[in-house]
Amino acid sequence: MAIPRETVEQILQAAHIEEVVGEFVTLKKRGSNMWGNCPFHNEKTPSFSVNPARNIFKCFGCGKAGDSAKFLMEHEHFTYPEALRYLAKKYNIKIEEKEQTPEEIMQQSIREKMFNINEFADKFFVDTLWNTEEGKSIGLEYFRERGYNNPIIEKFHLGYSPSQWDAFTTYAKKNGYNDELLEQIGFSIKGNKGLYDRYHGRVMFPIHNLTGRVIGFGGRILKNDPEKKLAKYQNSPESEIYDKKQTLYGIYFAKNAIARQDECILVEGYFDVLRMHQIGIENVVASSGTSLTMEQIRLVKRYTKNITMLYDGDSAGIHAALRGTDMILGEGMNVRIVVLPPEHDPDTFGRDFSAEYVSNYLKDNAKDFIRFKTELLLKDAENDPIKRGQVIRDIVETISVIPDSIFRITYVKECSRLLDMPEQTLTNELNKILRAKMRKTLGIDDNVVSETETTTVTPKQEETVEDQLPAGYYQERELVKLLLMYGQEMIVDERIDEDGNSILEQASVAQFIVDDLKNDGFLFTNAVNKKIFDLFDQALDEGRIPDDQFFVSHEDETIAQLAADLLSSPYKLDQWEKHGIFVKREEDVLKATVLSSIYRYKDLIVEERRKAIEEELKATTDSDDQLILLKQKKDLDDIRKTINKELGIVIAK
Ligand code: ATP
Ligand code: MN
Repeated sequence: MAIPRETVEQILQAAHIEEVVGEFVTLKKRGSNMWGNCPFHNEKTPSFSVNPARNIFKCFGCGKAGDSAKFLMEHEHFTYPEALRYLAKKYNIKIEEKEQTPEEIMQQSIREKMFNINEFADKFFVDTLWNTEEGKSIGLEYFRERGYNNPIIEKFHLGYSPSQWDAFTTYAKKNGYNDELLEQIGFSIKGNKGLYDRYHGRVMFPIHNLTGRVIGFGGRILKNDPEKKLAKYQNSPESEIYDKKQTLYGIYFAKNAIARQDECILVEGYFDVLRMHQIGIENVVASSGTSLTMEQIRLVKRYTKNITMLYDGDSAGIHAALRGTDMILGEGMNVRIVVLPPEHDPDTFGRDFSAEYVSNYLKDNAKDFIRFKTELLLKDAENDPIKRGQVIRDIVETISVIPDSIFRITYVKECSRLLDMPEQTLTNELNKILRAKMRKTLGIDDNVVSETETTTVTPKQEETVEDQLPAGYYQERELVKLLLMYGQEMIVDERIDEDGNSILEQASVAQFIVDDLKNDGFLFTNAVNKKIFDLFDQALDEGRIPDDQFFVSHEDETIAQLAADLLSSPYKLDQWEKHGIFVKREEDVLKATVLSSIYRYKDLIVEERRKAIEEELKATTDSDDQLILLKQKKDLDDIRKTINKELGIVIAK
């Protein structure tokens, strides 16, 4: 049941980060922070910091950061409500469960009914497998034949659904479950003669969610009858409790091992998961035959940033491995791929070889994804120079989705070696893609990057790390940081009204930044930055200014993470003294910093748009188009002049 918002806030305020963390990590005070060895990665010198003033932790080694609840979720693998309940208990806060609306109660009761019937069915299938003649001779025998032992069959609650057409439906109805529910959750299907069992005559795999509740089932047919063309697997339809794109088979049994080993092995099928567990490799989950989704990747990311994909040695397997990987890389995770010998899937591989052989094979054959893709594509391209050109673009495209510039550089180096290609050439190619993406997010038409331009690689002057980031990246972050750190502080804003009179007004830093950017139509491009901006915007409309705690405790993890990150490193207010300017009051420093940050940001974005227009101009021969572009360019130049003037004023003041 939901915990009321006010109680959540009360709990998070009562929780002292140093006390919560202190139960698990030995902390020593140094400066205003406390330090210890990070519990999330191995280290000898402490880089794990706790900031009591801001009530957050951050590890400067592995990057994990957040509030008390986040720490418990990471460390104890609690869900968010579990973490809150833990803290409530620790700090003696009573949780009054929220009054629910009639719809919520309805919704809740549907979900409860569904969990309930699933548990009931789970018991029935398991019982049928172990305790009926048919179950034993057909179902259990099938698992035995495939080489599965009792502990694994019991652990995963494998079961058997009788071959009689309506065995489960009838049994469930006798126990008070109605037709509607049976159909809704998918146990029964309406036929000519009434309801019959979806899974009759199949071995059953219950699918568990993170907390171990059964949310759906998969059932495998026992013999392949080509005449009848029956699907090998039947799965539950989606329901209020079963969302396929959020589900990974085996996550409940694997999550601890995944966290402990800091690696998640991804396979395709139910049996692949079972086999790996049986031979002692427990950090394994299955996507269940569908292509990987963003939600599944985020689910894994709660436990580790390292994914190893284990796929069949045939070309379909390799193809499957290539799918979805850009998504994983885009989440800032590391992907490795292990290709099995031809004719094997993880299930048969684990059946035919010893546990030791398998784990050595995994160790020796895990290939970094970029390297895997490069080698694979190169093999296809052989000595065909045109194909080689495509390979290069393809690989660089993949590198461009990696959010961390340091990793991008490492991969460029590696690929330069593998492709026998100057690093600079790849870097230039990469920059082109990154800029094109930037233009796209800025909403600037993108025909500029024409075929010819991307194929002819022109070497350029030395490029730096910064060049690879989209323009405005740092400036945008800087503004977000100012919002988070100083959003509630007041500055004096001077406006000139229509009659030319100067008006002095008090405004919060948040109000000032949000109004200024919105008025001029400058919108953040990075998704998380934008979310934070919008939250400020919305709150300001309601007359509130959210504080830093609101963001580090936000339910959207990307927001909480960024907030904790930014708030953990000190902000150096601009050193105006360097410019020979002496600002007396703290408040003036703040205002000057805010203004210059805004102007620098705008300046960069305008410059970027202007460049794009110039390139477009070069490519256009139509005189009308040219005129329009020239006008746009002039407008931008004017904006720029104004910005520079104002920037000059700030510095000169
Ligand atoms: P087995 O070893 O029993 O043949 P498998 O796991 O090797 O099973 P694959 O054909 O490799 O089966 O399919 C991988 C996964 O894809 C399955 O475990 C299942 O989750 C899913 N799947 C396969 N066929 C179907 C189907 N017809 N309908 C729904 N899901 C399916
Ligand atoms: Mn198989």
